[in-house]
Amino acid sequence: MINIKSEREIALLKEAGRIVALCHEELKKHIKPGVSTWELNELVEKVILDNNATPSFKGYGGFPASICASVNEVVIHGIPSKKQILKDGDIIAVDIGACYKGYHGDSAWSYHVGKISDKDKLLMEVTRDALFAGLNVIKEGVYLGDVSHAIEAHIKPYGFGIVEEFTGHGVGRNLHEDPAIFNFGTPGTGPILKEGMVLAIEPMVNAGTKNVRILPDRWTTVTKDKSKSAHFEHTIVVRKDGYEILTTL
Ligand code: MG
Ligand code: MG
Repeated sequence: MINIKSEREIALLKEAGRIVALCHEELKKHIKPGVSTWELNELVEKVILDNNATPSFKGYGGFPASICASVNEVVIHGIPSKKQILKDGDIIAVDIGACYKGYHGDSAWSYHVGKISDKDKLLMEVTRDALFAGLNVIKEGVYLGDVSHAIEAHIKPYGFGIVEEFTGHGVGRNLHEDPAIFNFGTPGTGPILKEGMVLAIEPMVNAGTKNVRILPDRWTTVTKDKSKSAHFEHTIVVRKDGYEILTTL
């Protein structure tokens, strides 16, 4: 069942989203060669706590940190580590969740570390633009399959791999709610969107094939062919004539 949020709830979700956006703003300034992913985790955790929120991911299903830091061939769920030092040419996707008065915000962004290749730049641009291609069809009355299809249609011409095992999702009192939102699909299928639905849209795109595997730590998800991967995500609310991004300042 897809929950419809009241305006009171949306205001709280918006504050959670604002805190997540604030974390990304702060993070941006610190992503450079020589920084460990653990330092980034500490930085984000402080911003969340300083804003009277709690990290949504810490302890979620046993996840040990406040951010997912997914470097290069890591698709999602990378665990921050003091041993993992960013270097020139890396790309890193940082996923952040904050819970404010019981409501979550969820947003991921991919960043370049120093100077990256044109190929990696394209991968990141296509993934980000695919997120907005999906968002831009959202309004009351469209099918969820229309959104999934718009994301897929944007990525396909580039020949990149669209990850199938992980999806976007509803957001609210729970970090993950119905519906699952695939990054590929058929127009005119699935549930019809209604005003007040809060959704996290999050394409995960590989430079190579779509196939992924999970490392023995049970979290870190990598591309099978070791190609790089990008991830962009916003939490939004469906409106009558469009959508409103919640994970923004
Ligand atoms: Mg996320
Ligand atoms: Mg998410």
